Amino acid sequence: MPDDEKTRSERTLESILEGKKLDAYAEHCTKKMHVCGLCGAVGYQRKPMKPIGSKWVCIDCMRELKEILDTLPQWEAEIQIGKEMSKKIDDTLGV
Ligand SMILES: [Zn+2]
Repeated sequence: MPDDEKTRSERTLESILEGKKLDAYAEHCTKKMHVCGLCGAVGYQRKPMKPIGSKWVCIDCMRELKEILDTLPQWEAEIQIGKEMSKKIDDTLGV
């Protein structure tokens, strides 16, 4: 049926155009795209990222990093306690 033929070729043309649009869009994004150096997430405008040294870090990792930095004194205290504990154990065992 000719109508069907027309629709099919129109559809083909549309899908080609759609593909070209996607290519252009992908290219457009690639320019602004960065890969998070920590979690490997690919981000562009929708996933905010900041460069740290030569790496880009996404907002999610940045939040985690901030949390770690915020709890750093506590973490250091824990490490210190751990060191003292193992020293005490060593002393007790006479190592
Ligand atoms: Zn990340």
